[in-house]
Amino acid sequence: MRVAFISDVHANLHALEAVLAHVEDQRVDKLFSLGDVVGYNAHPTECVRIVRERASLSLLGNHDWAATIGMPEGFNVVAKVAIDYTRRELDAESAKYLSGLSASGEFDFGPMKGHFYHGSHADPLWQYVFPAAAPDVFESLLADFADDTPRMVAFGHTHVPMVLASHELPASTLGDFQPSFPHDGRDAARTHPLVLFNPGSVGQPRDGDPRASYAIVDSADQSVRFHRVEYDVAAAARAIREAGLPGVLAERLAIGR
Ligand code: ZN
Repeated sequence: MRVAFISDVHANLHALEAVLAHVEDQRVDKLFSLGDVVGYNAHPTECVRIVRERASLSLLGNHDWAATIGMPEGFNVVAKVAIDYTRRELDAESAKYLSGLSASGEFDFGPMKGHFYHGSHADPLWQYVFPAAAPDVFESLLADFADDTPRMVAFGHTHVPMVLASHELPASTLGDFQPSFPHDGRDAARTHPLVLFNPGSVGQPRDGDPRASYAIVDSADQSVRFHRVEYDVAAAARAIREAGLPGVLAERLAIGR
C-alpha cells in the first residue's frame, strides 16, 4: 500500500492544491494528514474542507486546537493574530471537524504497523522533535517497540523533513530529500525495521527550501520517499497580505523559514 503523508498545511491553499496535483501522479492508495491544517495562512476553511474530503486519517495539530478549543499561553504574537483570524474565518462545520480530531493515530499496513503523531509519541500535541533531538527519541522508540513487528512512525509539527531508520535506507527511497542527518542503520542486528520520519510542511516549510514538502510511504518495502513541490508562493503571500495577516508570514514563505 502506498500512502501520501501531508502535514502542517497551515491554511496555504496554493501549496495544498499543488501537492495534491503532484500526488495524483504517484499512484497512492490513501492520504494521511498529520495535523495543523489551519493557522498562519489565509485559507483555513478551504484547506479543512479538502483535507476532510481527501484524508482517510487526519490528526489534530496544536494550531487546530488553538483555533477551535483553547488559546495556549505560549503562542507568539504573530501566531496568535493568525489564530484570531482563523477563528473568524473558519466555518462552523470545519471548526467542528477539527475539534473532533485526535493528535495521534494508528494504521495497520498488514505486517507493518503505523503510529502517527502531530508532535511525538511522548506528547502528541506539543513536543517538537527536531533532527538534532531525533536520535535520542529514536532510541526510545527502539526500546518501546522491541517485538518483531515492522513499524513506521511519523511526526509532524517541526516543519522540517527528516528520516531515521534501523536499517540503511537505499538512496533511491529518499527521492528529492537530501538528509542533513544520517539514516545510518542504528540497529544492524534488528530484523524488523523501524522507520521514523517527518514529511515536512506543505504550507510553511522551515528547512530553507520554500517548496511544499510531503512524503509517500510504501509498505511493500517499508520505504519513505520525500517530494518537494513548487507552487505559486507569490499568490499565497498576496493572499496573506490581502487578509490583513502580518507581512512576516508572507515573507517567510519565499525563504522557507
Ligand atoms: Zn505547524
